[in-house]
Amino acid sequence: MSRAPSSVDVLVIGGGPAGTATAFRAAQLGHTVCLVENGSGFWGRGFAQSLPPSVMPMLDVLGVRAELETEFTRSPGVTVLWGGDRPKRREFEEASGFQIERGAFDQMLCEAAARTGTIVLKPANVVDVRRSPAAATPWLAEIEADGERFGLRASIVVDAAGRRGKIPAVRTLRVPPLLCILGEWAACDLGTGSVVEAAPNAWYWACVPRGRPATVAVFFDPRSGLSADRVSLASAYNRLIGASRLLGDKLPGSPVRVAACDASSRFVQKPLDQNLIRVGESALTLDPLSSQGIQTSLASGLQAAIVANTWLRRPTCAMAADVFYRERHEERVRRSQINSSKFYGEAAERFGTPFWLQRCLVKETSEMPEQRPPSLVPDPLVRLRLGSGVGISRTAVVRGDFAEYVHAIVPVNSGRAVAFHDGVPVGDLASRLMPGTRALDVVQAWSGVLGEAAALRTLAWMWQTGIVVADIA
Ligand SMILES: Cc1cc2nc3c(=O)[nH]c(=O)nc-3n(C[C@H](O)[C@H](O)[C@H](O)COP(=O)(O)OP(=O)(O)OC[C@H]3O[C@@H](n4cnc5c(N)ncnc54)[C@H](O)[C@@H]3O)c2cc1C
Repeated sequence: MSRAPSSVDVLVIGGGPAGTATAFRAAQLGHTVCLVENGSGFWGRGFAQSLPPSVMPMLDVLGVRAELETEFTRSPGVTVLWGGDRPKRREFEEASGFQIERGAFDQMLCEAAARTGTIVLKPANVVDVRRSPAAATPWLAEIEADGERFGLRASIVVDAAGRRGKIPAVRTLRVPPLLCILGEWAACDLGTGSVVEAAPNAWYWACVPRGRPATVAVFFDPRSGLSADRVSLASAYNRLIGASRLLGDKLPGSPVRVAACDASSRFVQKPLDQNLIRVGESALTLDPLSSQGIQTSLASGLQAAIVANTWLRRPTCAMAADVFYRERHEERVRRSQINSSKFYGEAAERFGTPFWLQRCLVKETSEMPEQRPPSLVPDPLVRLRLGSGVGISRTAVVRGDFAEYVHAIVPVNSGRAVAFHDGVPVGDLASRLMPGTRALDVVQAWSGVLGEAAALRTLAWMWQTGIVVADIA
C-alpha cells in the first residue's frame, strides 16, 4: 500500500467505479490525488454484474478496455420475460457488453488510477472527515490503515462512498423501496448471458458469465412480507426464486452463498457543496433494472474530475463548473426516472398490481420539439428566424479539461440546452442568426467557419428540429 503525504489536492473516499474514475482523471490532469478504499462495500465481495455496450467509450478513456476483454466474457444475449407472456431471446452480435465479477473489476480500475499517479490506500478507512472553512486546505480526514490512524489534508473531497455516502446528505427516495436478495450458483443450466423476468410482485435478474458462477437476484418491496420467512435469508431466497418461471426449476440444490442489499433508488438535491463533490451512488442510485449504474457512476466520476480541475486551476470559471455538474446530475435523475418508468409501465399493464403501479408514476417528456419540417432542408431563398419558443441561453459545458459558459439553444418544451451538435457550436451560431437572413447566406457565412458540408448539415438539423423556421413576417 502506498504511503500518503500530509496534504493532497483531491481526496477520494471510496474505490468503486465512481471513485476510481474520478481519481484516474484528476491525477491524469496533474493533481495530487489520494484514493481510500476500505473494502467494506457490498460489491467487493464478488457477485457478477453486467455492463452495457454503451460503457465502451468510458473504458477507453480509463484505458482498461483491452484488460477487460482478456479478463471477462462478452455478454452473448439476454432472455426477457417482461411485458408479454412469452420469453424472448435477444442475441447480441457486435454491440455486446460485458459480464464482470465486481471485485476484480474494481481492482482493475484501482490499478488504472494508480498508474496515473493516484496514491491508493487499500485497505484503509476514512474514519472521519471535517471541513474548516478558514483553513487554506479546508478538509482534514482521519484515515485508518495498517492499524494506525493519521490525518490527511485535502483541498477537495470527493464522496464516492456508495449509496450511503460518507458525508451526510438528504437522500430522496424516488419510488417505493426495493430490497434485493442475491445468490451465487456454482453450477446451473441457464445458458449464457442475462435473464430478466417480471412477476406480479417482484422481478428477477440473472447474470451468467461463461465459466464463472452465476448471480441470480430477486427484487421486491421489503414492506410486502415476501421475505417474511423467519427461518433464514437463504430459505426466503429459495422460496422466492422457486416462484420464477424462467429460473425456478433450473437452479438445483442450493446457492453457494446468499446476501441481501438495499436496491432502492435515491438521489441528493445537492451533488456539490463547498469543496465537496458527490459522485456515483453517493449522489444518485439508479434502479438496478437499468443495468446502467456502473456506467453512470463512471461518467459522474469523469465529470467530477473536470469540476475539481476547474475549481483548482481556473477558479474564475468555478460557477460554470458548478452549473455544469448540477445540470448533468439533474439530467441523470430525470433520464433514469423516465427509463425505468417505461419498464415499470409495461409490467404494470401486464400485472396491474400495486408493486408495479406505484413505480410508474413518472411520465415521459419529449426532449426536442415535435414540429415536423416541411422538407429536409430549407429553400436557399427562404428567410429564416429562430422558431417560436426557441431561446438562446448561456450554459455550462466542458471544453478541453475545464468547464466554461457558452451559448446554447433551448428548444421548446425541453429542459436540455444544446450548445454543441455533432461537434458544431450550434448555440453560438444560432445566437448570431439575424432574423430574415436567407438560408443561402446563412450557409455561406457558416461555411467560412465549418466548411460547406458541415454548414449544410447543421442548417438541415436546425430546420428539421424547428430551431430555425421560415420568417414569413
Ligand atoms: C442488486 C443490484 C444489482 C446491480 N447490478 C448492476 C449491473 O448489472 N450493472 C450495473 O452497471 N450496475 C448494477 N448495479 C448498480 C451498481 O452496483 C452501482 O451503480 C455501482 O456499484 C455504484 O458505484 P459507486 O462507485 O458509486 O459505489 P460503490 O460501488 O458502492 O463503491 C463505494 C466504495 O466506497 C467504499 N467505502 C465506503 N465507505 C468508505 C470509507 N469510509 N472509507 C473508505 N472506503 C469507503 C466501499 O467499500 C465501496 O467499495 C446494481 C445494483 C444493485 C443494488
